[in-house]
Amino acid sequence: MRCPYCASPDTQVKDSRPAEENVAIRRRRICPDCGGRFTTFERVQLRELTIIKRAGRKVPFDRDKLLRSVEVALRKRPVEADRIERMVSGIVRQLESSGETEIPSSAIGELVIEGLKGLDPVAYVRFASVYRDFREAADFQEVLSEIARDTPEVEAAMPVANGQATAAKRH
Ligand SMILES: [Zn+2]
Repeated sequence: MRCPYCASPDTQVKDSRPAEENVAIRRRRICPDCGGRFTTFERVQLRELTIIKRAGRKVPFDRDKLLRSVEVALRKRPVEADRIERMVSGIVRQLESSGETEIPSSAIGELVIEGLKGLDPVAYVRFASVYRDFREAADFQEVLSEIARDTPEVEAAMPVANGQATAAKRH
């Protein structure tokens, strides 16, 4: 495994242990050239998946890209990395077991929205607002009231979303 810091071709595994309830192996690695430390995960891949983008272009499914977009939505939110990994693994398993090898990106987006709904309400609104391309204050209100049913403190936790909704109303 190439070092992500200095691109040295050889890094050493310091330890390996099961992660995510034994569906993954977590390896801590160290680079002998720069001393950089990083972690890799080994997982079963049941089948190769292809994503069909909105414009019709096809790209190979990339778990890391999915994880990164989920992490962007969860930035500065109090959710442990392990729970995020489990959510992403759950999405991948749903995709792999769907029987389809070509999956529209919209289907993945909806799975992420569903996953974030249970994980963190603020991240859920962030992702849904970008993903569904909210244009109207009513779109925000709909989602806010949807999650407010489960978590009454949500509106107080989201001044940005409320601010945008208010600003949009003034137009
Ligand atoms: Zn290095």
